[in-house]
Amino acid sequence: MSKQSSETMLKFIEIDGEMPAKRDAKIRAEDFGEIYADYIKTKAQEQSSRCSQCGVPFCQSACPLQNNIPDWLYLSAEGRLEEAYQLSAQTNSMPEICGRICPQDRLCEGACVIEKSGHGAVTIGAIEKTLTDNAWKNGWVAPISPANERALSVGIIGAGPAGLAAAEALREQGWQVCIYDRHDRAGGLLMYGIPNFKLDKKIVKRRIDRLEKGGVKFVLGTNIGPNVDTNVDTNVDPNISTDISFADLQAKHAAILVATGVYKSRALQVPGCGAQGVIEALPYLTHSNRLGLGDKVQMETAKGKDVVVIGGGDTAMDCVRTAIRQHAKSVTCLYRRDQANMPGSARETKNAMDEGVKFNWLAAPQSIHDTNGEITKVRAVKMRLGLPDRSGRQTVSPIQGSEFDVKADMVIQALGFTPEDMHRLNSEIKLSKHGTIKTHPTRFETNIAGVYAAGDIVRGASLVVWAIREGRDAAMAMHKYLLEQSMCAAEE
Ligand SMILES: Cc1cc2nc3c(=O)[nH]c(=O)nc-3n(C[C@H](O)[C@H](O)[C@H](O)COP(=O)(O)OP(=O)(O)OC[C@H]3O[C@@H](n4cnc5c(N)ncnc54)[C@H](O)[C@@H]3O)c2cc1C
Ligand code: SF4
Repeated sequence: MSKQSSETMLKFIEIDGEMPAKRDAKIRAEDFGEIYADYIKTKAQEQSSRCSQCGVPFCQSACPLQNNIPDWLYLSAEGRLEEAYQLSAQTNSMPEICGRICPQDRLCEGACVIEKSGHGAVTIGAIEKTLTDNAWKNGWVAPISPANERALSVGIIGAGPAGLAAAEALREQGWQVCIYDRHDRAGGLLMYGIPNFKLDKKIVKRRIDRLEKGGVKFVLGTNIGPNVDTNVDTNVDPNISTDISFADLQAKHAAILVATGVYKSRALQVPGCGAQGVIEALPYLTHSNRLGLGDKVQMETAKGKDVVVIGGGDTAMDCVRTAIRQHAKSVTCLYRRDQANMPGSARETKNAMDEGVKFNWLAAPQSIHDTNGEITKVRAVKMRLGLPDRSGRQTVSPIQGSEFDVKADMVIQALGFTPEDMHRLNSEIKLSKHGTIKTHPTRFETNIAGVYAAGDIVRGASLVVWAIREGRDAAMAMHKYLLEQSMCAAEE
């Protein structure tokens, strides 16, 4: 490191790590606005200067996009904000979105060396968000304008982060890109899953508008495949959804990307789970997001109810915090492992606790009880942690005689998601034993020539940052494929 950069950086001893100010828990629980304020420019610079500029940056290896974090922190600390943004945008299609919703404690910030030395990680996500929000404000986010227009077109099924990231990369190379989605708005789970208090929908819309202005076509309200899987509540309005077959799409486009995500909810299997008032997490969140977007929806809200949410991941945390904002009487989260083993972001769990959610860790539902069809309580049992299983996670087993009741008139199941039956989309496509689409590990091509897949439908329910990474990688492989196709066509 040069003398100049060592003077700018390594300030982690004299400057404490500081997140942007959070709105007071009581106040923020009254609305669906984002909870963090923006860093002021000088604060972002100051926080960036805490980076120790490691020779081997573990933060970069822990980021699924391998973002060049130390270099953009250095540029930011120097006040060279446009350059810092440009560098961060080279590897990330939506840095301001990742900065908001990546579980940084498990990724970049969790690997930060100064975190390990007890000084508190560099607040990488908050700085990444600030740099890109600032770039939008200053007009530094350039429109997409390909150097050459190319004739061949790509059909992308799914307008979630994987599809959007791939569309951007392919369009930048000049290919004609058309994204199909069964919902009436693009964005996938960024739009209809993740609540506004984590990710304001204007931030998502801004990205979609940029793609549209750059020539990407969106065909919304259109399901690809023979029919919506009737076993899955896709939250799609049947009145606006039309169907196009996969074969029709293949005939229309030179290559296809399947980026359809995973939408089949893992169901609770205890006596009483079919009672009215036991609902699935995603329709609940989708309806809440639709209300926020101004749509007229019929939905059961949590207002005045004793709500029990079952699960410990991001979806469960979004449900408990949505229920708080809908003025539930009480909100309890039942999770069968302990806090340390929760799969969701530790930061979001803390936010939920501050907002008044009660956590019952090491507790699993045993049965749901009702009187005349109205839920009254969830009977749960205490669990004990055992030895780690093959995946390394500690197993759990019930403690005999430890049953207890939690008052409830609404139960939300947030136990995770698995893929829909992808053979309904295409009967030839090879699937893994988990039902996800099998692809080449780096090129993301399926067993069908010209058909690629990326995001949750390949990896299983995962993270936005991984969907972006795979969308970008698949796009690069598709670019090569399309170049070959163009050359073959020219030779004929
Ligand atoms: C409630 C919730 C909260 C989450 N919170 C976070 C978080 O805080 N941080 C984080 O990193 N990750 C979070 N995740 C995970 C993250 O949202 C996903 O990993 C990511 O969105 C996957 O991107 P994708 O593009 O693969 O799929 P999706 O975002 O699911 O998009 C797939 C799109 O395909 C469309 N589609 C599906 N089938 C068809 C078809 N046959 N025809 C046409 N269109 C179709 C769908 O309508 C959808 O728009 C959360 C997930 C949920 C459910
Ligand atoms: S994309 Fe996510 S993991 Fe990577 S640097 Fe940004 S916040 Fe960290």
